[in-house]
Amino acid sequence: MTALSPQPPSERFPADPWRLREAAPDSATHFLNETLFALGNGYIGVRGTAEEGWSGPAGTSLDGTYLNGFYESEAIHYPETAYALAKTNQFMLNVPNTKGIAIWLDGERFDPLAGTLADYERSLDVREGVLERRLTWTSPSGRTIALRSRRLVCLDERHLLALEVQLTPVNFSGPVRIVAALDGAVKNLEAGDDPRIGSAVSGASLELVDTVQEGDYSALVQRTRNSGFTIVSATLVEIAAQGQGTKDGLKLETAYAIDAVQGDTVTVRKYAAYHTSRDYPEDTLRERSRTLLDEARAAGFEALVARQAAYLADFWRDADVEIDGDDHLQQGIRFNEFHLLQSVGRDGKTNISAKGVTGEGYEGHYFWDTEIYIFPFFLYNRPDIARALLEYRWAGLESARRRARQMSHAQGALYPWRTIAGEECSAYFPAGTAQYHINADIAYSIRLYLDATGDDAWLRAHGAEIVMETARIWMGIGSTDRQGRFVINEVTGPDEYTALVNNNYYTNAMAQAHLEFAADIATRLAAEFPQDYARIAAAMDLDPAEPAAWHDAARRTHLPYDAALGIHEQDDSFLAKKPWDFAGTPKENYPLLLNYHPLVIYRHQVCKQADVVLAALLLSSRFNADDKRRDFDYYEAVTTHDSSLSSCIFSIVAAEVGYADKAYDYFMETARLDLDDTHGNTCHGVHTAAMAGTWLGVAYGFGGMRTDGGTLRFAPTLPPQWQGYRFRIQLRGCLLLVDVKAGGTTYRLLRGAALQFTHHGRSVALSAAQPEQMEPA
Ligand code: BGC
Repeated sequence: MTALSPQPPSERFPADPWRLREAAPDSATHFLNETLFALGNGYIGVRGTAEEGWSGPAGTSLDGTYLNGFYESEAIHYPETAYALAKTNQFMLNVPNTKGIAIWLDGERFDPLAGTLADYERSLDVREGVLERRLTWTSPSGRTIALRSRRLVCLDERHLLALEVQLTPVNFSGPVRIVAALDGAVKNLEAGDDPRIGSAVSGASLELVDTVQEGDYSALVQRTRNSGFTIVSATLVEIAAQGQGTKDGLKLETAYAIDAVQGDTVTVRKYAAYHTSRDYPEDTLRERSRTLLDEARAAGFEALVARQAAYLADFWRDADVEIDGDDHLQQGIRFNEFHLLQSVGRDGKTNISAKGVTGEGYEGHYFWDTEIYIFPFFLYNRPDIARALLEYRWAGLESARRRARQMSHAQGALYPWRTIAGEECSAYFPAGTAQYHINADIAYSIRLYLDATGDDAWLRAHGAEIVMETARIWMGIGSTDRQGRFVINEVTGPDEYTALVNNNYYTNAMAQAHLEFAADIATRLAAEFPQDYARIAAAMDLDPAEPAAWHDAARRTHLPYDAALGIHEQDDSFLAKKPWDFAGTPKENYPLLLNYHPLVIYRHQVCKQADVVLAALLLSSRFNADDKRRDFDYYEAVTTHDSSLSSCIFSIVAAEVGYADKAYDYFMETARLDLDDTHGNTCHGVHTAAMAGTWLGVAYGFGGMRTDGGTLRFAPTLPPQWQGYRFRIQLRGCLLLVDVKAGGTTYRLLRGAALQFTHHGRSVALSAAQPEQMEPA
């Protein structure tokens, strides 16, 4: 498709480098802003619905709270089934709402959409991690209150969230009733026509086990019907008044009656906790919850606010990306980084879902998005989190082995295309299980991790076994054709508008790299860590001849190339297909997946997202410059970017092949994708892969950073629209600042002893003794 037109800067949010500000509650944007103002800590995710709820029209709100990795499972029903199709879906549950606080002024309920609203502002400052709202409201009968609310989901205590509401009667004294709710009558969205949204389950998924109401403390104990987990959701209210508890089905309420005095502020604070038996023994959940809430109240709300800011100060110190000359963009980039931090699981048991913990799109599933898009962001900014993401895959190795057996592979492990707990959940195998490249993607991220950290202990403990077990799958599905080439048939590559093909270029090239890597690891372990090697080989029942066979298959891997066009073929059949009629496709028919049967799409040369072009980035040193440019030109013309994973990759490769305008336009498309809702579905959750794609766009795109081929390289360029930019990289114990300006690039070692890399091909060596070097543009 033709190049993008540059995005106009968003009018909805004022340009502010650190904050997102909403000037009025609005039914037209409420659903979307619930996502944008969502808070999370990698475990709990709370959408930005206000404490009093939302009285706007149906369909303008989804008041969701989610726990990363806490799921219900449900049988997948196929009217026409087949052997080894995924049997059970897992989906992230909407769990009880702990934020509710209703305010009554002598019988009139506070509702920003009724009465008169003034001085409204809702804001989220990503340095503080606190969602704040200020407003003045006059009830229909004329009582005016000033209200301030603050909310945080603790980044340093994953089970805890806290909020505070302060209200001040402006023109009256009289009775005020505050009702704090713990609401278990919640459910997930039901699936509609959009395959990207909703679960197949209707009704409530959590069965009530018990309720507790003791003074200011309330708890709901519930159990999932099928996945067998228990969850305790609890709240502890802090207010200078006596509470009166009531129970209405699954809703526990505690009402506080106050004689409010004009000008005197009434403060109510609420601490809330979630604990589940996915993490702890069931019989300890209530006590853990109660203890945590007591501790939180003892510490106090302000202490939690201060801890949140301290956590974020550390994060930004190491991970901030700065852009000089565009505050809208700066806002977008920081917003994206903040949401990534809010979304990512850090316990080795959970991962980062396609929509984080901000909405129900893609049901809380984890995809390859993690390894190929999101992992580098954490690796170079929070390597501890990157390692936790790899631990998650280690935890899933047994499931992957089982899946491989179901798929008739006698050996090896096949990771699921989409999952929460490790089992394949994709009900549409052509664009799911067929994406065998997931195995190579995981191996790729392990290689990045080892290159960046030198963590041999992890390689020996877990990494080597994952890489070798997953490499075996290529031997299982690959074969040798009549020309002696190692070919891989009947797979789907990253581009989901082309399915079940032979020799998808991306898959073959990534499998080749994977096989080489696995063979190299085997050789290295055997030489350097023979005991570990013997242990792993025994666990895998490894034949001593296997590593050599991997090496040989890699050497012979067929990488489809069309000599006449001078491009890599996306697969054996892609170039023979009929071109898609872009000129005859009205704008409203995008994304194509919502308007054409898959077969119609599959028969055409049309791509949803980067495929060959992504390989050109990940395996950069294996491509020559001319091929890269021709690949870019060819595939750009047939790519719709219907997937939010696409534009960032086109931006990066455009920067490399010298298309500065396109690099900028595609980057801008990615950077504010959620803030400007350019894909029209941010209401169902943020797009975490695209958010990470923004960071990739700065570091890999404009910064020209590459690490494949074993060396760290930079080739910075400065978009003419900016005065400069800076980003930071953590590598091998060092923290490097890359500071790009029109006059050149300054590299500064902020931490660590020494770092070597190249700048536009020239060697640069930084050391603690000489921590800074300026290189011309
Ligand atoms: C993309 C996949 C991606 C998934 C989840 C789909 O639209 O085509 O590549 O993994 O979304 O983000």
